[in-house]
Amino acid sequence: MTRCKLSFIFVLLTAIMISFGISYAAEDVEMKTFIIDEKEKRVPIVNVELEGKKVKSDVPPIILNDRTLLPVRAVAESMGCNVRWNPDTYEVTLEKEYKVIKLKIDSAKVEVNGEIKTLPDNVPAKIVTYEDAGRTMVPARFILEELGAQVDWDAGRRTVMLKKPKSYFVKEQEACVTLEDIIWTNNSIKIKTSAEPKFNDKMISGPDRLVVDLENTRFDLLYETLEVGSDSVSKIRASQFETEPMVSRVVFDLEDYVDYDISTEEDGILVSFASEDKQDEISQAQEEMDILEAYKKSYGDFSSSDDGDGENENAQTDSKEEAHDNPLGVEIEGTQSDQTFLLSATNDIKTNVIFLDSPERIAIDIVGAKIADKQYEDKQLSGSYVKGIRSYYYKDEDRTRIVFTMAEGIYNSELLVLKDSSEVKLLKVKPPVKEGAGNGVKTIVLDAGHGGHDPGATGMDTKVTEKSIALDMVKRLRPMLQAEGYNVVLTRDSDEFIDLYRRPAIANEIGADLFISVHVNATDSRQASGIEVLYYPETKRVSREIDVQGMSAEQVQKAISAQQSQTTRNNKQLAQIMQKSLVDATGAVSRGIVERPRLVVIRETAMPAILAEIGFASNPNEERLLQTDEYKDKLARAMVNGVKGYFEKQ
Ligand SMILES: [Zn+2]
Repeated sequence: MTRCKLSFIFVLLTAIMISFGISYAAEDVEMKTFIIDEKEKRVPIVNVELEGKKVKSDVPPIILNDRTLLPVRAVAESMGCNVRWNPDTYEVTLEKEYKVIKLKIDSAKVEVNGEIKTLPDNVPAKIVTYEDAGRTMVPARFILEELGAQVDWDAGRRTVMLKKPKSYFVKEQEACVTLEDIIWTNNSIKIKTSAEPKFNDKMISGPDRLVVDLENTRFDLLYETLEVGSDSVSKIRASQFETEPMVSRVVFDLEDYVDYDISTEEDGILVSFASEDKQDEISQAQEEMDILEAYKKSYGDFSSSDDGDGENENAQTDSKEEAHDNPLGVEIEGTQSDQTFLLSATNDIKTNVIFLDSPERIAIDIVGAKIADKQYEDKQLSGSYVKGIRSYYYKDEDRTRIVFTMAEGIYNSELLVLKDSSEVKLLKVKPPVKEGAGNGVKTIVLDAGHGGHDPGATGMDTKVTEKSIALDMVKRLRPMLQAEGYNVVLTRDSDEFIDLYRRPAIANEIGADLFISVHVNATDSRQASGIEVLYYPETKRVSREIDVQGMSAEQVQKAISAQQSQTTRNNKQLAQIMQKSLVDATGAVSRGIVERPRLVVIRETAMPAILAEIGFASNPNEERLLQTDEYKDKLARAMVNGVKGYFEKQ
């Protein structure tokens, strides 16, 4: 049984609740434990089938208070829906062609194409936790009916049987082109048709997707969803979008904004996506631009506010024009000690500072100004903790953004930004040694995931278990860390089951300095591979920005000390360092670091904590590698380096 199918994008999986009563004979029913309303409950599980085929999901459908709960993501996606989870607003969005259904956690209200409806019996959508993932439960009959599915219950087989919406009445003779196949090869896709098709393509954002409509084309594929899982395209959905006229629609769900080429051939359409490197550059620039939009929303329009001099709008426009004619002189330089970076302007400036990661960058917006010096449009630096400076001018906003990109191994959390009337200083700081700490031996708790009756993920070829690989890893790590002078404690050193809450408690009770949980990933796709480090996002963010206007040198020093005495668990920095160390050492695919606000072991720990997914048991190559001493030693060595690297930064 796999319990660690941690999706790269979806923090939470989702499940739905069908509101029909089900009776069962208790003795032949399989029960499992879930956390519902903060309490552990053992409830019966059932099966779900779509068109007679079992819907695969790591979340078993369950019966709770005579209602059946189904995993909505698996069910909705198998019906060709796009499912999105927004961790900021706690909203689940189901999308199929023209229909958009929005659910909100702890709310019985549901929005269907903008219209507010109430869920049956006023039952709110709710998060239920199974093992280490939370899921949303809502009354499913409503959703399934909205999606046009038929729902039946087979009591004998304890199975919920779903049928797709009635198939479109297809007038074959009217269409002269047939969509026959979709073939994915290494960043390009061939949409194969019976004759050369006419098409329209458009890029849609939020989330990014490319929509290609084939005119006068009949859809003749058995499947509607194709999991791709490449760096650029996560999946491809296709359907008979319209029947009058006949339009087949192919939607490419993109991992990120990406450039593409599209062209017709006599037997179809060829779509190719930009290479990963180019895509990274594009998405970085895109992100830096996008942040501006977010700022506009939260703070309004800077350029027309905060003047405080009672001038009317026309006068402001005039002064803005003047700023263009007489651009701002800016000088950026690193000091000799290389601990500060100074941006000084010829006039007073109004600035906003934004911290960006992946890669680590600090963006400084200068409001109402265009800088004169062209060299900062794209300047590479060496021998400094800043490796590059870029600037953009946003004409509509009349502001300049200057982006400092940090050198390798430098994190935003090591920097302070001091803002004064006509200058901004980047200051590289090291937190002072805490009382009683620093000299003592650091204690590291290693947590091998799963154990005992809980095997975790299981290899498809060799049936190797996640629990055994994890235990092997922590036993390998222990002597290596001890050799470096660390005190090491294991949450388990044998094949036993340890309660999820007991694991962080062990670390908290001994006042450990670091907590590392070791797990192995698995998914339905055998293609997925690589390493990801999960961390708990701190809600209490320490401000890295100090406004020093009008302060004396002494006051500035005090403000810096006060800022540095604020503490965080530094989970993210630990995750960043560990992810890099693991990927550099192994050459494995980097799936990046992932915020996981609900994972008990990394949430309940009082010290910096991470959960490392060191590979995929479902990937044939990694299943093999994770059973070789050579690869496991590489991983262990990388973890030791990650631990050392982290403490060096503190
Ligand atoms: Zn696991």
